[in-house]
Amino acid sequence: MTLDESTSESLFDRAKQVIPAGVNSPVRAFGSVGGTPPFIASASGALLTDADGHEYVDLVGSWGPMILGHANPRVVEAVREAAGRGLSFGAPQTGEVSIVEELVRRVRPLQKVRLVNSGTEATMSALRVARAATGRDVVVKFAGCYHGHVDALLAEAGSGVATFAMPGSAGVTEGTARDTIVLPYGDRDAVTSLFAERGGEIAAIITEAAPANMGVVTPPEHFNAFLAETAHAAGALLITDEVLTGFRASAEGYYGIDGPTAGGAGSTPAGGAGTADGAGSAPAGGSDWAPDLMTFGKVIGGGLPVGAFGGRADLMDLLAPLGPVYQAGTLSGNPLATAAGLATFAGLDDAAYAQLARTSSTLQSLVADALSTAGVPHVIQTAGTLFSVFFREQPVTTYDDAKDQDTAAFGRFFHALLEGGVYLPPSAFEAWFVSTAHDEQIVDRIAQVLPAAARAAAQG
Ligand SMILES: *Cc1c(COP(=O)(O)O)cnc(C)c1O
Repeated sequence: MTLDESTSESLFDRAKQVIPAGVNSPVRAFGSVGGTPPFIASASGALLTDADGHEYVDLVGSWGPMILGHANPRVVEAVREAAGRGLSFGAPQTGEVSIVEELVRRVRPLQKVRLVNSGTEATMSALRVARAATGRDVVVKFAGCYHGHVDALLAEAGSGVATFAMPGSAGVTEGTARDTIVLPYGDRDAVTSLFAERGGEIAAIITEAAPANMGVVTPPEHFNAFLAETAHAAGALLITDEVLTGFRASAEGYYGIDGPTAGGAGSTPAGGAGTADGAGSAPAGGSDWAPDLMTFGKVIGGGLPVGAFGGRADLMDLLAPLGPVYQAGTLSGNPLATAAGLATFAGLDDAAYAQLARTSSTLQSLVADALSTAGVPHVIQTAGTLFSVFFREQPVTTYDDAKDQDTAAFGRFFHALLEGGVYLPPSAFEAWFVSTAHDEQIVDRIAQVLPAAARAAAQG
């Protein structure tokens, strides 16, 4: 850096005067890696350009939505066209029907869906439906799983034993926290004993379909099916949060990976329309499982603010004005957002997923080689095409494991990559995001910087 303040630095100074920490979402402040976040001026394909004119290969992808790369011409054109027809109507419009049909077509457990404006709204609304359907208050979540900044879901304390969660944030009432029970991820015994003791109070289990907000944790085999079975046996529901994994881990999200084999024996577990048989109906067989409700966001908005929740028709029909559960949104089903989502889906064919899988695995090998050569302890974990890198020797199965890594080494690795023009998520607890715009040339650019970054990580 020169003595002159960079434009990003002066923007950050200005921002801090009027925006808490200078950012509108905490991780953007670079708190855990230090330094000044580049202010992004523009983005195209796999590249970001900051306010100082530096170019970066982007491995954040706006935390998932930019699966076709930035400013994808088809997506931008669709949004431009939609904008010309009006920005918001507060009335039904074609695009929202089309995108929900697309969601229902692509994800088997979805019978009915409502659109909202963020993943947070989606999980918040799904919980409300689950509590209304069961007439119960308690929600079970897993430590290290993130479901947006919903009061009831910020709780994350407690490991090893089921405990009443402490609020995970100031400003969350004790009453709210008391209704949330946090269990260690992947711990079948903890789930079983909690349900043995308090099953009758539990409205729902909510889980990331595959945890990707403590770094990526591959779910233990059949874990989600086990959660569905356990919840259903007690008359509770299972909500799988696919805000991050949806249309990303695979074409059908993580359910496409651990759901019943597509086209296999038995019909779609959630059944066709008309199987409204009430809360607590268990799927027929052990492996023929489905969540009752699912949540989405990120990819389905193609970069515009969107979330969605859906699942069993009988549950979704509890929503007003059909039923007693109130849920609404001035901008929900916004025509620009649905246009961006539809154009994104149009680009997400089998070839796109095959390419994402190839790019992801090439990148994993390059990172593993560079870190091994430099002698940096690391473990790479995957959930379909998603992956992340932990700076420790042993695999990560719980939040406690995830926290037990060399975050200082990650910080050095991160800054060396940034200097070299590669923009990683500024935290050791995040997935790395590739897009269909990450072609061989882009991967080569990353490959050239990795060895020096790995050496930087090694210099503790
Ligand atoms: C990002 C995320 C959310 C929250 O979505 P927002 O759009 O940021 O509110 C919820 N759940 C998971 C799994 C996420 O990754």
